[in-house]
Amino acid sequence: MKFIDLAKQSDRIRNKVDRRIREVLQHGRYIMGPEVRELEAQLTAYVGVKHCVSCSSGTDALLMSLLAWGIGPGDAVFTSPFTFIATAEVISLVGGTPVFVDIDLTTYNLDPALLDATIQRVVDEGQLRAAAVIPVDLFGLPADYGSIEPIAEKHQLLVLEDGAQSFGGAINGKKACSFGHAGATSFFPAKPLGCFGNGGALFTDDDELADRLVSIRVHGKGENKYDNVRVGINGRLDTIQAAILIEKLAIFPEGIILRDKVAARYTELLNGKVVTPTVPDGLSSSWAQYSVLAESAEHRDELRNRLKAEDIPTAVYYSKPLHLQPVFAHLGCKPGDFPEAELASQRIFSLPMHPYLMDDDVERIAGCF
Ligand SMILES: *Cc1c(COP(=O)(O)O)cnc(C)c1O
Repeated sequence: MKFIDLAKQSDRIRNKVDRRIREVLQHGRYIMGPEVRELEAQLTAYVGVKHCVSCSSGTDALLMSLLAWGIGPGDAVFTSPFTFIATAEVISLVGGTPVFVDIDLTTYNLDPALLDATIQRVVDEGQLRAAAVIPVDLFGLPADYGSIEPIAEKHQLLVLEDGAQSFGGAINGKKACSFGHAGATSFFPAKPLGCFGNGGALFTDDDELADRLVSIRVHGKGENKYDNVRVGINGRLDTIQAAILIEKLAIFPEGIILRDKVAARYTELLNGKVVTPTVPDGLSSSWAQYSVLAESAEHRDELRNRLKAEDIPTAVYYSKPLHLQPVFAHLGCKPGDFPEAELASQRIFSLPMHPYLMDDDVERIAGCF
């Protein structure tokens, strides 16, 4: 059994993807070819925002937004300690300071009540300017934007949605990556909408921000790429990846429905055995991961070993919260600072999840608990 079976999906659309790739090889416009625009138009419609700027990865999508907003030294950017390193890494890359805010253990996402208190503390201390917040839609479940957005507005913070895992999720029908001032996603192969390499995209309703992102994507170009008006990066999405994504997007909505069915079945079978994921009313997850909470670190090891013995792969996202990572030692955090994130990191693990996971497999996996 595979943790994420990418081959099954590829088989379904192999001919279409092959034809798309051949077309790119024929026209030869490997960089910013027509498929890039075509994909951006489709992604814009899917997410329901004014602009989509495709780019080279989810990490670059986050980085480009911070560059566009001029976040830098002296700026505090609030985020979760329970996420992939890229979320906080980009803050340091632009010279800003990550300020962690603990998660709500029921959703594994940023706790809005703690966010408000932490922003106020930073404001009162007066050392850093409270500049932005990067809520993360962990495992595919959108963060609580209904609470986060008014708090950010009160403190005049920019909101960057890290939707690397949540593309396809929604809150009351409003799609993930449409929240905050900008939303970033990733097309890394294992993400809900994955390409055959690296890729990402940014979404925003802000015309001026979209223009700046287009410039930053190509070395801060002005009138053309040899007219350079700001510091940017080489942040383009390859035409071939765009061509592949066009075909994968066509079957993506169906994939989300199938993932939701797999998740519902898991929850039905695992209820009472481990803590299953909570999806608050009105929210839908893209189920980048189906993650459960064991009773203890030992219980997690025991369950994972039992599954492994049956050739069922599992994974731990994330075994070390970011505030305890060596790279952020200079921030001076210590064990106990973010108890919910620490508890999650000790007890969480993820089960195989993809749209084509068979009911028999789900039953076999649940049977090991
Ligand atoms: C995967 C991921 C990223 C980075 O995306 P890449 O395309 O791998 O650069 C950022 N944030 C989160 C939460 C992710 O899961």
